[in-house]
Amino acid sequence: MLLRMSTLFLRTLREDPADAEVPSHKLLVRGGFVRRAAPGVYTWLPLGKIVLENVARIVREEMDAIGAQEVLLPALLPREYYEATGRWEEYGDTLFRLKDRKGADYLLGPTHEELFTLLVKGEYSSYKDFPVTLYQIQEKFRDEARPRAGVLRGREFHMKDSYSFDIDDEGLRASYADHRAAYIRVFDRLGLEYVIVSATSGAMGGSASEEFLAVAPTGEDTFVRSTESDYAANVEAVAVPAPEALPVEGLPEAAVHHTPDTATIQTLVDFLNGAGLGRDFSEADTLKNVLVKTRAPGAKEWELLAVGLPGDREVDFKRLEAALEPAEVALLEEADFAANPFLVKGYIGPRALLDNKVRYLVDPRVVTGTSWVTGADEADHHVVGLVAGRDFVPDGTIDVAEVRDGDPSPDGRGTLYTARGIEIGHIFQLGRKYTDAFQVDALGPDGKPRRITMGSYGIGVSRAVAAVVEQSHDDKGVVWPREVAPADVHVVGTGKGEQIEEALRIARELEARGLRVLVDDRKGVSPGVKFTDAELLGVPTGVIVGRGLKDGLVELRDRATGDREEVALAEIVDRAVAACRA
Ligand code: ATP
Ligand code: MG
Repeated sequence: MLLRMSTLFLRTLREDPADAEVPSHKLLVRGGFVRRAAPGVYTWLPLGKIVLENVARIVREEMDAIGAQEVLLPALLPREYYEATGRWEEYGDTLFRLKDRKGADYLLGPTHEELFTLLVKGEYSSYKDFPVTLYQIQEKFRDEARPRAGVLRGREFHMKDSYSFDIDDEGLRASYADHRAAYIRVFDRLGLEYVIVSATSGAMGGSASEEFLAVAPTGEDTFVRSTESDYAANVEAVAVPAPEALPVEGLPEAAVHHTPDTATIQTLVDFLNGAGLGRDFSEADTLKNVLVKTRAPGAKEWELLAVGLPGDREVDFKRLEAALEPAEVALLEEADFAANPFLVKGYIGPRALLDNKVRYLVDPRVVTGTSWVTGADEADHHVVGLVAGRDFVPDGTIDVAEVRDGDPSPDGRGTLYTARGIEIGHIFQLGRKYTDAFQVDALGPDGKPRRITMGSYGIGVSRAVAAVVEQSHDDKGVVWPREVAPADVHVVGTGKGEQIEEALRIARELEARGLRVLVDDRKGVSPGVKFTDAELLGVPTGVIVGRGLKDGLVELRDRATGDREEVALAEIVDRAVAACRA
């Protein structure tokens, strides 16, 4: 490959685009890699297309290496398939819906579980056919509420989506493990720093779904990681280690105190500390009981649920939703309190909850032998010294308190802190949701039908381009990792005639040696502009043919380190090849 900048369809910009907030958006536009066509819709220009294809190639190689087979499905899909799985409705406003000339409903595919499932159902029918994994790299369409940050969150974007089909759960676990390993190789080759976080709480079974997050302060996903170990998890998936139970013997008896005007925790703590009870109290000594209601899938009735947690913590609603999934959860309304007069707002205690058969789950820190100040189920009254396991026995634990910076890491090493990431990949043991919907069976060796089980796996190919730039740039431009770079080497000829001719000659030789070469052979463009462009474009190795040429010298540059070295003309090709192969 030899690209000549004198004819390349490329215009670099000195100014950041007005709508750009994050580095990748600014640099991909300024470097002439992409151009905005509409909100969240982008055109890929020659250099951008090369980078995009490089990412796609890496993904393809690693998918092929696990035996996945590439196909290409349509993006324009009839409504009926998505109707069958409920997703025509479920997807809400994110789905691009359209009609054909006869008035029939279509959609632009946001992800393709339905069609892949039907494809396999149509072709395969025996256990001998399985397992099979199919994938495609294709434009996806989602009418995102907030298209953002250039190609990072587009409304049309490129995704690799694959789907595994297995005869049993063990097969699915193997397909999942293969994908996980392939993803690790892909993201390593992309030079990304990333973490793998489990996307769901333990309730769904450990690694049923994991996300790959590229670490970046501009990312939209929050996760926690440890100061000491490589532990990382989605906030929803953090499992707080339960402390050891304590002996209950010898603990003071619980006593109810009149605590006027103490409906908030702070007023309660202030009151207790002024009450001469012979000890100090903090918010963490109080047991706060938060009431919500839940509804099982398909059920009509809501059920009350009380969550007991230390008073210095809030319930994290996302963690609560994840813990209760697939049940719905909602806050109580006034009508709910009215219907349950035993709930005395601000003074709710375990007693009334348990007596009235409200399901009562507590934070894992509320172990047997811990002693609490909590509501006495009567306005202006609290009970002090209520001991878990002695004075009340909850129905179980629920791990939904907010996770805070400085909390101990669940793996016992270091403390947690919050970080941000960009979701670049997602692997998911789907199970039989879609094969049930479309009744996909294979005849087993015993002649009996087996319901096929599926996994689905995505990589944001266009998003990965932006994620690479988020992690790999400086104030002058992009610093491409070699495997994704638009070229291996950028040869810059400055001056008028001779240097440019020499630059072209070197470029052709480098091309003949198998390198992908970009050569700046523009006439009438100043050296300063050429160097600025070279830094913006971010090709890893640079060869500068400038004034030194008359002394038989050219310069070898490294974009990442900034190192520069004068090299004899006779050696430059070998040296540049070596630098690119290092
Ligand atoms: P997000 O939470 O960021 O909206 P998602 O969980 O909806 O993503 P998936 O359905 O898991 O996305 O899609 C698989 C992959 O496709 C994601 O891991 C991400 O890398 C990529 N992706 C999803 N939405 C977009 C988008 N709007 N623009 C670019 N890439 C996207
Ligand atoms: Mg996802």
